[in-house]
Amino acid sequence: MTGSLTIAGLGPGDTALITPEVSTALAEATDVLGYAAYVARVGPREGLRLHPSDNRMELQRAGEALKLAAEGRNVVVVSSGDPGVFAMAAAVFEALENSPELRDLPIRVLPGVTAMLAAAARAGAPLGHDFCAINLSDNLKPWTVIEKRLRLAAEADFAIAIYNPRSTSRPDGFARALDILEDAGCADRTTIFARAVTTPKERIEMMPLRDARPEMADMTTLVIVGNSATRRIGRWVYAPRRAS
Ligand code: SAH
Repeated sequence: MTGSLTIAGLGPGDTALITPEVSTALAEATDVLGYAAYVARVGPREGLRLHPSDNRMELQRAGEALKLAAEGRNVVVVSSGDPGVFAMAAAVFEALENSPELRDLPIRVLPGVTAMLAAAARAGAPLGHDFCAINLSDNLKPWTVIEKRLRLAAEADFAIAIYNPRSTSRPDGFARALDILEDAGCADRTTIFARAVTTPKERIEMMPLRDARPEMADMTTLVIVGNSATRRIGRWVYAPRRAS
């Protein structure tokens, strides 16, 4: 009896942004695992077991998902946005690396609309030219690495999408990040705070980086710092297609 393991992205919040491929996988699942808030987005159904777990349990959850699939279940692990962007897909492959006997399991990764794309679409086209994405959580990497990447991203004049800017357990990192970017010459850069995009709590704010305040971000906010050429036209922000 062979089960399967699918790692699926639920998009940023609105059900209209769940891909048909992910909907089909969820309809065929026997088990859905994930952070409780994401599992709650999957409706209960007869024959479907929901396995919500805590936010920081990624590796344990991945191991459990592999085990259930090896037992013959059709398992879907859910992430918000895209499962490959600061999410469960990497944790599953980390668990798989630790379990060589499971390497022949059928595994699929189904993409989703990641937060930076949903946020960028609301603002206009701030990621229309070269950009990078940085996770500000220092749970799994030292702050020195985050600081170095912010400085070099500023120097390279990338637009910068910042995931996990600020949470109650990490209230100070984002203030430091804003200081680092200001020091690196980004004070004039257009900065977008996109909160809870595509949900009823959505709020989009834009200002020059020098006016950005740490309290403007929370754990449901995606921040985009434009590049040096990023322009505002009315309520829109875009990165010109040409760089000099
Ligand atoms: N895999 C997810 C990212 C997980 S990290 C994805 O691809 O989008 C969690 C961070 O994503 C949050 O702290 C926030 O920065 C961002 N995020 C997720 N959903 C969001 C939304 N609807 N609006 C704004 N930011 C969001």
